[in-house]
Amino acid sequence: MVSFTELLTRRLDGQLDARTTQYVDHILDGTHRMKRMIDDLLTYARVDRVERELEDVPLESVLKVVQHTLSDTLTSTQAVITHDPLPVIRGDLTELTSLLQNLVENAVKYRASGRTPIIHVGSMPEDDGWHFTVSDNGIGIEPAYFERIFKIFQRLHHRDAIDGTGVGLAVCRKIVERYEGRIWVESIPGSGSVFHFTLPEGVVGPQLIDVH
Ligand code: ADP
Repeated sequence: MVSFTELLTRRLDGQLDARTTQYVDHILDGTHRMKRMIDDLLTYARVDRVERELEDVPLESVLKVVQHTLSDTLTSTQAVITHDPLPVIRGDLTELTSLLQNLVENAVKYRASGRTPIIHVGSMPEDDGWHFTVSDNGIGIEPAYFERIFKIFQRLHHRDAIDGTGVGLAVCRKIVERYEGRIWVESIPGSGSVFHFTLPEGVVGPQLIDVH
C-alpha cells in the first residue's frame, strides 16, 4: 500500500491539490500505523509460542541495555534512572529485556509536562522469588483503569496526544505470567505510577505450546 501510494504521488507530481495531498498523507499515516499494530500484535502472539532459552540473566546488565536502546529519548527528556542492586534471574534474556524495556519506556513516555522524568527500578527478595517495581513521577493513572491497561489495545490517550498501540503492557503481563508471576500497578493521578511485578525463583514457566 505504501509503495503504490508513493508511486502514485510521484506519477502525479505537481498535479495534486492541497486537499488531495492531505488525503495521501492520511493514507500513508494509516498504513504506517497499521504496520506497527501488526508488528506489535505478532510480538504479543509470539510471547508464549517462541522457544525460550533459559539462562542466568543479570538484570543490571539488562537495564543497561534498555538504557542504551532508549538513549535518544532518555537524553532528550533528561530522564534520571536509578535502581536498587538487581539480581541475576534464571530466565529468557529476550523476554526479560522486553519486560523492563516496555516499563521504562512507558515511564518516560507518560511523563508529566514540565517535570524531569525520575524513574526507579526497585527489587526486593521475597520468600519464593523477587518483587520488582518500576516507579515514575509521570502523569499517573486513574484507579478505574488499573486493570484495563494490561489488556491488549487498551489505551487511555488518543494517539494524537501520545503515540502507541496499547500492546506493551499486555506483552509484559504475558511474559510475567509465563514465569507464574504477577503484574499490577499503583498510581496517584498527577503524581506518578508504580508498576509492580513478581518473578518466582526457580520457576521455569509453562511448557512450550507446540503450534505445528
Ligand atoms: P501504549 O503505550 O502503546 O499505549 P501500553 O500497553 O504500554 O500501550 O500501555 C497501555 C496504557 O497504559 C497507555 O496507553 C497509558 O494510558 C497507560 N500507561 C502505561 N504506562 C504508564 C505510565 N508509566 N504512566 C501513566 N500511564 C501509563
